[in-house]
Amino acid sequence: MMIVMKETASEDDVEAVIEKIESAGALAHRIRGARLSVIGAIGDVEQDVSIAGLGLEGQPGVDHVMPILKPYKLASAQITHGERTVLEIDGRKIGGEHFGLIAGPCTVESREQTLETARIVQDGGAAFLRGGAYKPRTSPYAFQGLGQEGLRLLAEAKAETGLPIVTELMDLRDVDAVLEVADVVQIGARNMQNYPLLAEVGRSGRPALLKRGLSSTLDELLMAAEYILKEGNPNVMLCERGIRTFETAYRFTLDLMAVPVLKELTHLPVIVDPSHAAGRRDLVTPLSLAAAAVGADGIIVEVHPRPEEAICDGPQALRAEDFAAYATAVQQAAQLARRALSSVG
Ligand code: PEP
Ligand code: MN
Repeated sequence: MMIVMKETASEDDVEAVIEKIESAGALAHRIRGARLSVIGAIGDVEQDVSIAGLGLEGQPGVDHVMPILKPYKLASAQITHGERTVLEIDGRKIGGEHFGLIAGPCTVESREQTLETARIVQDGGAAFLRGGAYKPRTSPYAFQGLGQEGLRLLAEAKAETGLPIVTELMDLRDVDAVLEVADVVQIGARNMQNYPLLAEVGRSGRPALLKRGLSSTLDELLMAAEYILKEGNPNVMLCERGIRTFETAYRFTLDLMAVPVLKELTHLPVIVDPSHAAGRRDLVTPLSLAAAAVGADGIIVEVHPRPEEAICDGPQALRAEDFAAYATAVQQAAQLARRALSSVG
């Protein structure tokens, strides 16, 4: 259920509603909008019935009560009344009006490679540095990441450049180590439905970048986001990174239609990863421009100073020397598209 408060509702009115919801055994999630507060009462089906019987409609400060129609509740666009969530991480914003570029190597390989890439993407205008210390590899014989040493190198790159770090968490046992360094915790496509991991990131409160599973529907992606949100962590961005289809001419099918459709279904920021979808460098720029044009709130892209020597995902990495021109083109496309989309509707 969703309890929409009046603009004139007092703090005491809001508190009283929250108390009533909690007394029925449901979770009360307050969302403070620019004008008014909305309280999501989230419970199981029986609790929904008992909340409906609480008579909240007549309570002081309550404007109206309505059911949340989707199976995901806190992720639903309905709950914020059209307001978009903007994530602010170290003063850098993603979502709403704000387009953010996340760039860096697939994996942290060495001090030199990490620091060199960090400097280049910062000069080129990236807002965040990406880089994996723990890598989900298809083959157990492939390089699995530098682990703690990789995290240390990312921390050094942040200390030098100031770029906030986006890095993947794969295993609950690494959560403390990753949280020491990650400004944004990435949940990879293969872990999108690892529910204990999602709940733990939810409990941590740390901003999360949740990638769409290789064969997951948008509803499944939103239900996965709900696991993080439910623990009281509102800082989630979703990422389309290509899905499996019958097409074999390229690695994955970048589902760009997911961007406007997700933005209709949810208030959360939606970003795109063209690198893993394409698997090929030459497709990364056109797909990035298309992602910006379709209204993505950001892009996460792989960059390497010497892609030929990269330990993983070299063929899809942008060359570091091309990054500044790429970033300018993508930012321009994003600004143009945002203006055009808001004037046409
Ligand atoms: C990555 O970003 O390095 C990665 C492995 O992505 P995905 O989980 O989308 O395959
Ligand atoms: Mn990669």
